[in-house]
Amino acid sequence: MKLTLATHNLHKRDELIAIVGNSFEVDILPDDFPEIPETGATLRENALIKARSVHHVLGGAVLSDDTGLEVEALGGQPGVFTARYAGENATYHDNCNKLLNELDGVTNRKARFSTVIAFIDEKGTESTFMGSVEGSITEEFRGASGFGYDPVFEPIESDGLTFAEMSSSQKNQISHRARAMAAFLASVA
Ligand code: IMP
Repeated sequence: MKLTLATHNLHKRDELIAIVGNSFEVDILPDDFPEIPETGATLRENALIKARSVHHVLGGAVLSDDTGLEVEALGGQPGVFTARYAGENATYHDNCNKLLNELDGVTNRKARFSTVIAFIDEKGTESTFMGSVEGSITEEFRGASGFGYDPVFEPIESDGLTFAEMSSSQKNQISHRARAMAAFLASVA
């Protein structure tokens, strides 16, 4: 089956292709496809907004994902604001810095990454799938791989490594995105 991945983010795209590339003929969004505003109040709404926009314009089967980081000591923030935590044009580095500053001196560093995948098939039928990984926010940046908050997020099952200290295949075995994709793949198997 042909599947369009509704994302311009090259890191997310590569992770998704590594996970579904054997099962689907993957298409990526054309470079000139406009950025889709994430105006939903939940990850699920945002994932559906992105998948619907792409399905509406390009047709065919579409898969999108939306991810949020919930930090317990911050009452679940940044949540749906994860991408723009330090402002609209914030870099990954800015966002991580803001998080480390907010948690300066805080001992409860528990956090959870969650991804919601939205899938729309060729006929327009919608479904969503969720995956999460529990972990903690580090005291400082560690590692150079991955993207986003990877250098400051240490999953529980990682023997002390942050996502940014893991290889992509290690990350893809336990990540929030991989777990949501596993649920999606089980539904189409
Ligand atoms: P998005 O809305 O799904 O693009 O994700 C929101 C933000 O979450 C991104 O801008 C990244 O900063 C962060 N993010 C998403 N997935 C990951 C991940 O796998 N590792 C670290 N950060 C991530």
